[in-house]
Amino acid sequence: MALAEITRRLRAAEEAAGRTPGAVTLIAVSKLQPADRVAAVLREGQRVFGENRVQEAQARWPDFQARHAGIELHLVGPLQTNKARAAVEMFRAIHSLDRPKLARTLARLAQERGESPDLFIQVNTGAESQKAGVLPEAADALIAEARGLDLPLVGLMCIPPVDADPAPHFRLLAQIAGRNGLAGLSMGMSDDFEIAVAHGATHVRVGSAIFGAREG
Ligand SMILES: *Cc1c(COP(=O)(O)O)cnc(C)c1O
Repeated sequence: MALAEITRRLRAAEEAAGRTPGAVTLIAVSKLQPADRVAAVLREGQRVFGENRVQEAQARWPDFQARHAGIELHLVGPLQTNKARAAVEMFRAIHSLDRPKLARTLARLAQERGESPDLFIQVNTGAESQKAGVLPEAADALIAEARGLDLPLVGLMCIPPVDADPAPHFRLLAQIAGRNGLAGLSMGMSDDFEIAVAHGATHVRVGSAIFGAREG
């Protein structure tokens, strides 16, 4: 099965990079996948899943969670401020913090609820105008701001430009994290997760290589 093969490749990439076996978390990105494919991957034992829309996650995960214990959901797509409350109620981690206003909203919700998902700041390493994420030169300031708000910031996330060599983007993200003392690196997808592991990824987000091509 595809999940077993991806897991095997991930373990091999960890070993090649001198990492502890199992050190890298595999997030199975199930956005836009039919429910029967998600159910099959759950039956194979996968418990960490990524979605990129709050509403899509709300529509289907409560059913799966009623049937399987230990499911951990990660939001990997952009988050609108008006969906922040729904997001913190549903997700164990949010990988797309990218602006001060969202940081302040998440901080207010954390105070109110006495808990918060783990947070990754998304960095737009390619400075692409259409892409979410804080620009690399503004990342240190947003990291400081999130810390000033007492948010549980665990790391950084990036999505390299399509068709670009991802390695320089992974290196840049690792550099920004390193100088800020952040341990988490959410980077690497179906086509490049092994390269990301070689550059220190702690979380890889793999969709189509596990589930097959997405619908729509
Ligand atoms: C869709 C998506 C992924 C998974 O992409 P694949 O190429 O299918 O592995 C990873 N991260 C984010 C942020 C995504 O939106």
